Amino acid sequence: MSDIEDQVPQGTPPTLAFEAHLAPYAAHASQSRGRRFAETPPAARTEFQRDRDRIVHSTAFRRLEYKTQVFVNHEGDLFRTRLTHSLEVAQIARSVARNLRLNEDLVEAISLAHDLGHTPFGHAGQDALHECMRDHGGFEHNLQSLAVVDQLEEHYGAFNGLNLCFETREGILKHCSRENARKLGELGERFLTGKQPSLEAQIANVADEIAYNNHDVDDGLRSGLITLDQLSEVSLWHTHYDAARADYPDIEGRRLIHETIRRIINTLIVDLIEATGRNLERVAPQSLDAVRNAPPLVAHSDEVAAQAAQLKRFLFKNLYRHYRVMRMANKAKRVVTGLFEAFTDDPRLLPPAYQARGPVTEESANDAPSSSHDSSQARLIAHYIAGMTDRYALKEYQRLFVIDNN
Ligand code: MG
Repeated sequence: MSDIEDQVPQGTPPTLAFEAHLAPYAAHASQSRGRRFAETPPAARTEFQRDRDRIVHSTAFRRLEYKTQVFVNHEGDLFRTRLTHSLEVAQIARSVARNLRLNEDLVEAISLAHDLGHTPFGHAGQDALHECMRDHGGFEHNLQSLAVVDQLEEHYGAFNGLNLCFETREGILKHCSRENARKLGELGERFLTGKQPSLEAQIANVADEIAYNNHDVDDGLRSGLITLDQLSEVSLWHTHYDAARADYPDIEGRRLIHETIRRIINTLIVDLIEATGRNLERVAPQSLDAVRNAPPLVAHSDEVAAQAAQLKRFLFKNLYRHYRVMRMANKAKRVVTGLFEAFTDDPRLLPPAYQARGPVTEESANDAPSSSHDSSQARLIAHYIAGMTDRYALKEYQRLFVIDNN
């Protein structure tokens, strides 16, 4: 028996024992604010473990394999997809959470779910869909992730969605406009009152940045869109690149790049643990509620934050605005906008399963004014398009617009 198990009082249910090591400021599954639909507690796992398992078994999670962030899925087999990105986020977030005695199961669930609502073709797809939805409440991928886990997955007999715990849903909803927050009740409250989410949610958020900044450097180099020469202006890069070369003078190419990136990731993770640890010591929150009322506590040190910001600016300028990325983004926009317009012009083009869902209105569709009916129709189309993988969107576009295609 480990030390931790020794401290657990005899007769404690196994699910409570899973959390006996957690700090008082951690989110405890046993104290969750619960699910939207009441369920029998799980027998052999905590409520957050159950959330993670439901996410892994969802359809939207499998689709992440064929969705991209910067590069389109068919551009190369070795680039990150949203699935591998989400796994990297979970790895980083768990390392941080474990060191701070926070709830690893919750950070894992949030990390694996955080991108479920992303459209095909990364940010270009999302911007295009947002533009299409401008008169119908817009499109935010965070809200879409929430829509996936709250309504769109159709797996369970008793409810739509995955019926996740409040704390998992709270972590998924990273940003939200005030207007949308007002519609979300308890979940939207913190965007109106300026309160913080759990530390686990804060960690998943920073882990997301650590993951993409680093894998975008890796994929950027692999694609040839950025060069080692350009990267030498980034302090985080050249510090670790020089150190890697000093330690291993004989390595080069991919091995040297990886040796550099792993050092950067490690530096960022260790800094995040230490700086957050200092914040926790200073503020000493005694509960999750105290965390919610405190300022954001999960943060890098000032020095490393400045270095990470420099890397981010570099990527923005040299990779995300690279003309080849812009060309792909432009194509993506045309596909998403074209699909949206075609379905709006004639909703009968939607697959029968989507037509059956009908325009979903809060009120009865018959009583609703036509603008509300249009918005419901538009939202249904946005759900359909957002759910598409890159290649499905391209195929669907061909099916609708290319005469020679079946
Ligand atoms: Mg992400």
